[in-house]
Amino acid sequence: MSIVIIQKCPVCNSMNIKSEFICKDYFASGEEFEICICRQCNFLFTNNFPSNNSMGKYYDDLKYISHSDIKKGFINKLYHFVRAYMIKRKLNFVCKQSKKKTGKILDVGCGTGYFLNEAKRKGWETYGIEKNERAGKMAIEHFDLYVKPEHHIYEFPKACFDVITLWHVLEHLEDLNEIMGKIYDLLSPDGIVVIAVPNCSSYDAKHYKTYWAGYDVPRHLWHFTPRTMELFVKKFKFNITCKKVMPFDAFYISLLSEKYKNINSFIAFVKAMFTGAVSTVRALFDKNKGSSMIFTLKKSDYISGSLEL
Ligand SMILES: [Zn+2]
Repeated sequence: MSIVIIQKCPVCNSMNIKSEFICKDYFASGEEFEICICRQCNFLFTNNFPSNNSMGKYYDDLKYISHSDIKKGFINKLYHFVRAYMIKRKLNFVCKQSKKKTGKILDVGCGTGYFLNEAKRKGWETYGIEKNERAGKMAIEHFDLYVKPEHHIYEFPKACFDVITLWHVLEHLEDLNEIMGKIYDLLSPDGIVVIAVPNCSSYDAKHYKTYWAGYDVPRHLWHFTPRTMELFVKKFKFNITCKKVMPFDAFYISLLSEKYKNINSFIAFVKAMFTGAVSTVRALFDKNKGSSMIFTLKKSDYISGSLEL
């Protein structure tokens, strides 16, 4: 198995990195992985992780929820119920942020295509990139969508998209800087990028520590906070123009985290709901503390007027 060893910080390039803690892969392998921190910019990342070619077995298609349509089990049922509601909200958010009702949209890591299908239904010209062959095939077969494998991102013409979305995808991408540079090239001058990622500075992350489901090693490589996201996107001449807390994620992540603590009972459920509620309420007062965050990016040269932070 080939392993990727990170020796300099992917955000600020500093070599001043140190091991911070160890996280276990509770989902698939039971293996342990090292989480490192950059002493310069505080960026947290998984280190010594399997390379793209060896990562397949850690996804275990049949269980990985965003790659499948499995509705068995309470957490899966809840995920699918909330997803249907969230897809509509996500598209409304995209329309509001881009100030467009239709246009050309690229969803990087489109999974089984539910979000793109909603966009297509509402008149958007839709394109998807999905590295998981099975998920991509489902998107094409169920919804007749245009979905291509990962490398196809290099084949689109420059500045051709009004909107590029990455819903819980950026944290999975080994070629983080390369893909972000490509996204800048593909975006029209007044276009927007929408990125959703878990936030490792949230209340639930601090509460569950190494059990926090948002770490999801080794599948999640990069563990952003609003601060490190800002530093990261600035390198690509993007500005964050809006930050939003994703509702429900604190509850879902807390449920999974309690499951990882191996307390499979009613008490665990109550504890997860309580932690989810505390995290959600805290995020009402401080946006930077949401369990999962959505960031809107615009090309810094094209921003006019005041920022909406
Ligand atoms: Zn750094």
